Amino acid sequence: MTVSEATRQVLELIEADISASSLDIDLDPNPSSTDDPGKFLLEGELARVVQPFNGFHANINLDWFEGSDERPEIQREPFYWYVFALRGQSGEEVETYHVCDFLSLKSHVLDFEAPEGNDHRDHHDWRGEIQKLDSDTGYFRWGDEPTDEQRLGRQVQLRNIEVAAGDVSPTTSGHRTPSDNEESARERASDTGEIQNENRRRKVTTSRVVRDTSLARDVKEHHNHECQLCGNTLHLSGDERYAEAHHVKPLGSPHDGPDVIKNILCLCPNCHVRLDYGTRELSRSDLRETDRHRIDDKYIQHHNQKIVEEGAE
Ligand SMILES: [Zn+2]
Repeated sequence: MTVSEATRQVLELIEADISASSLDIDLDPNPSSTDDPGKFLLEGELARVVQPFNGFHANINLDWFEGSDERPEIQREPFYWYVFALRGQSGEEVETYHVCDFLSLKSHVLDFEAPEGNDHRDHHDWRGEIQKLDSDTGYFRWGDEPTDEQRLGRQVQLRNIEVAAGDVSPTTSGHRTPSDNEESARERASDTGEIQNENRRRKVTTSRVVRDTSLARDVKEHHNHECQLCGNTLHLSGDERYAEAHHVKPLGSPHDGPDVIKNILCLCPNCHVRLDYGTRELSRSDLRETDRHRIDDKYIQHHNQKIVEEGAE
């Protein structure tokens, strides 16, 4: 889908929403000041469509938020609104949109605090996106964060043209601060675990949001999102498949495992939790490996000796 196609479809949706409401919103689809096909004027301010790159995902580039809180520029023109074109699960149609001013989008992005010092800025490969949750809401997430946790926080209202009229402040248009929601997500996540010790539980659950390196994504692709322990694949909507990457010797202190494919497993969420909690030992014979992807013995030993045995003490 080209940006001009996405923009045409977004403008049709916006025009329909304006005329279906009593809102007095000024829309200029073809401003003379620009020849960028993704731009239009909304309430006199320049807007730019961000089009889907794949399915219903839309890319967010961290570079947009570098520097000050001044309005950003696109091709040396200042602008104000980002308008995300989100298309349906199949076909080329833009199904809905999300209007976001620069500072709101910046707060969606920067509110996310990755645990244990793994900041989103650590990884250039991380991809931020706004995804559709249901017909009215979407949510912001980073990369391949576990979807369930994200659904509880950082939700945004879709088809929210009223923000342009000032009826809803952009920051309250469904955007919730992450603290309460993420805390409750963690509580819910830990409710499902068997381990009751508070400190241990906290440590384990916060590390559940795993930064996904490009190698981790390669491993998941290589196994076609099939769990290397139980063989299951989690199917999300449409033909989207979901798996999680697990560093057998964990990244970061105190384990300081390496980010190499010999240390990365592709797992379903259930098996991932068991390994993180150390309630399951690893043995080579249990692993579904391929000629091109074998876990190194020393990382399997580390798991069994440092995570299973010491965790049980
Ligand atoms: Zn599994």
